[in-house]
Amino acid sequence: MIVGVPRETFPNERRVALVPASVPLLMKAGCNVMIEQGAGYLAGYTDAAYHEKGATVGTSRDVVFAEADAIFQLVGTGANPTRGAEDLGRFRPGQAAFGFQRALGNPEALQELARTGASVFAIEMMPRITRAQSMDALSSMSTAAGYSAVMLAASALPKMFPLMMTAAGTISPARVLVVGVGVSGLQAISTARRIGAVVSAYDVRPAVKEQVLSLGARFVELPLETGASEDAGGYARAEDEAFYRRQRELMAKAVAESDVVITTANVPGRVAPVLITEGMVAGMGPGSVIVDLAAERGGNCALTRAGETTVAHGVTIIGPVNVPGMVPFHASQMYSSNVTAWFTHLVKEGALKLDLADEITRETLVARDGQVVHPKVREALGLAPAADAQSA
Ligand code: NAD
Repeated sequence: MIVGVPRETFPNERRVALVPASVPLLMKAGCNVMIEQGAGYLAGYTDAAYHEKGATVGTSRDVVFAEADAIFQLVGTGANPTRGAEDLGRFRPGQAAFGFQRALGNPEALQELARTGASVFAIEMMPRITRAQSMDALSSMSTAAGYSAVMLAASALPKMFPLMMTAAGTISPARVLVVGVGVSGLQAISTARRIGAVVSAYDVRPAVKEQVLSLGARFVELPLETGASEDAGGYARAEDEAFYRRQRELMAKAVAESDVVITTANVPGRVAPVLITEGMVAGMGPGSVIVDLAAERGGNCALTRAGETTVAHGVTIIGPVNVPGMVPFHASQMYSSNVTAWFTHLVKEGALKLDLADEITRETLVARDGQVVHPKVREALGLAPAADAQSA
């Protein structure tokens, strides 16, 4: 079985789906690897490095698709509205596609990919169970994003982060507020702490408080009724507008006292809640910075513009997109490790053996034999459940 790794085509994407260190693991599972020439270059991985680990280098994208039985991508066709469709003519029946597919966010694109006859696996559908932790690419990318958010904030802030006692006087530490403490929020807290900021954090899920404290940050207590704020999967539930209004009122003081606010609040399947109004921005000190990691999902700040940095009321508001892509070397390394663990879980003796009794297989297989098979994606497309479509 040949695993093919084409170059990523999403605009400005520098990551790659597989790094050289993963090649021997795939070979051990009975697979060969073919990488498209130059695919890893922008992430810091040369063709020679892949070759050294046993991969072959395909001279063109067409060659890689023609030779490979399984295609590893990071930004899959559905997640790549600009150029993803260019690969539709390259996929073929019997081939398998692995990557972020935006299966629920862009089910129409998935349906088109399904029509090529390829089996499609969506890594964003990975169940968040202990057994699948090594395959959890959403967590990997959130980790990279949380780190990068702090780097963005630190370089935009006209202050230094750490406390410094100098002959020229004392520099007081920057005050950072993190709103939303999922995987990226936790990484933002620890990164900001490491470079010396005084950090506080808030999340609607009260279970998070202990984690915030264990990282040496302060938990902002807001007198909000958050009893049922967490669903069975550990995600936040959507709240009504009255809740968010009250949250904004209560958070205004914590926001005003901060030099940096990093927002990551997200409710699965919804646009991001607006937690910082223009009035709250105006209440911050001049030179303060907001980094809105929810920018791609609508933004947690009312003034955020995705992909842009704006200044309003003297406050810099950064709405970054593709934040994990800012650190392509390590983001690729983590993704590669996730996709390899996932793929080798599905491969037995050099061939894909799908056991649909297995939750990891069942939840991540989104299309096969020409049709979309995942119940949630079918629902998103308005299709009736496929009685036996997911059966082997
Ligand atoms: P996410 O990206 O869905 O959301 C980010 C954070 O925003 C969440 O913590 C959420 O509670 C918070 N949020 C939502 N609305 C908010 C509001 N109004 N105000 C403040 N915060 C708000 O989250 P995620 O990073 O995907 O993590 C979700 C959960 O999954 C967490 O409990 C995490 O620990 C858990 N998880 C479990 C595993 C596992 O393998 N068991 C792996 C990764 C994550």
